[in-house]
Amino acid sequence: MKNKLFYIPLFLTFHLALSQDSTLLKSQVAKSITELRDFVAIPNDALNGDAIADNLIWLKKNFNARGFNTTELETENHPLFFAALPMEDTKPTILFYMHFDGQSVDSSKWNQENPYQTVLKKPVDGGYETMDFEALNDDIDYNWRLFGRSTSDDKGPIIMFLNAIDLLQKEEIKLPFNVKVILDGEEEKSSKPLPKAVKQYRELLEADFLLIADGPIHSSEKPTVVYGCRGITTLSITTHGPAKPQHSGHYGNYAPNPGFQLAQLLATMKDKEGRVLIKGYYDGISLGEPVQNILRSVPDDAVSIAEKLQFKTAEKVGAFYQESLQYPSLNIRGLGSGWIGKKARTIVPESATAELDLRLVPESDGTRLKKLVKDHIVKQGFTVLEDIPSKEERLRYDNIITLTEGSVTDAFRTNLDNEYGTFLVNTLQKAFNDDVVQIRIMGGTVPIAPFINELKIPAFVVPMVNPDNNQHSPNENLKIGQLAYGIKAFYQILKTEK
Ligand SMILES: [Zn+2]
Repeated sequence: MKNKLFYIPLFLTFHLALSQDSTLLKSQVAKSITELRDFVAIPNDALNGDAIADNLIWLKKNFNARGFNTTELETENHPLFFAALPMEDTKPTILFYMHFDGQSVDSSKWNQENPYQTVLKKPVDGGYETMDFEALNDDIDYNWRLFGRSTSDDKGPIIMFLNAIDLLQKEEIKLPFNVKVILDGEEEKSSKPLPKAVKQYRELLEADFLLIADGPIHSSEKPTVVYGCRGITTLSITTHGPAKPQHSGHYGNYAPNPGFQLAQLLATMKDKEGRVLIKGYYDGISLGEPVQNILRSVPDDAVSIAEKLQFKTAEKVGAFYQESLQYPSLNIRGLGSGWIGKKARTIVPESATAELDLRLVPESDGTRLKKLVKDHIVKQGFTVLEDIPSKEERLRYDNIITLTEGSVTDAFRTNLDNEYGTFLVNTLQKAFNDDVVQIRIMGGTVPIAPFINELKIPAFVVPMVNPDNNQHSPNENLKIGQLAYGIKAFYQILKTEK
């Protein structure tokens, strides 16, 4: 693409500060858009091994072009991509994590023909209008967006990183860090080989801290640093009535009803304001003054959350949104018995099931919490089995529960006063002249938590993309302004001495 912005006398670039609107940054953004289109055009569905291989070829070429040494790390599944700039012993090392695979696409749900062919759109009242890429030759509007699979999650950040390296090399800046990069090709299907890879390639991955560039910035659109993510585990509990559904006329009032059994049990688990009543569930969590101050500094707006989700009063596990995320949750994620709606039948159902998920924090080991819930169920007078009860068991016990447990993905959390966290916050604050939102722990779970816990180094998520990017959904997009943001964020982090 011809871009008049490229013809800037070089000497100027050495003295210009990298402001968001600088021609230097804008011309790099223009280049990065071309490169992103090229990268997005390679399908990256993690379920397709050939696609992942094509992406690895692209990565090798484009990291090598910037002077990185690259290699593929064999794992029990797809290889991981590893790149590093030449190392110097005296410098601290940053390990960057991003992923190049994407969620599967259903083209019929996208407002464009091919989700792997990036489309440029500008916002017009209430929607978007498709633009020709030529329109970028005159000027780059930071409000315009690039639509395509993985523009945001997570090829966009890889492109931002590479283009930040370009800027640094153009300016011949000597980096105060050693730089290592690990790129995951199966994040969207749980990154299963990662923790093992750490054991196998520990020396290669050694670093002073890990920077994860994935996920969106805070909804206030301010620079964001995230110190941790909650973990997760699940439980499925089923109560049992008669072995087969029975006529509610003949047996209502007589055959035990599994729906009521389950409802009564669930009601003992929480108070009316959403707090878990199971003893020990919140043990070990204390939020001192400094932590409280950071939690309160996050510019969440309780009113707009309530408006968006449409409810009157929030639960009371925490006094406000961020505080509520510091505790493990106990959530009914699904509930079922008999038939409902037009299909409702006049029966006493044979069973009722509640699917529970438990979001974990570092203080609340998932195995311990599952045991607490199980012990609580026993205390309520239930006989807990692992399978559907036999006839014998049905005749022997009242109140039978079948309980099955899901696996545990741990939480991770780096201390708020970690020196590298402070470095990142200060660097972003200076770069963007804006407050940095510090999230002590994100509500969601990332599959790379076991990898982080295995690496045993401080880890931070530094998100780069817009909060409304439709991640994992049709019409995923990246705001061009966020592309500029990410290039600048990587650039400043890499050139700033700690
Ligand atoms: Zn992602």
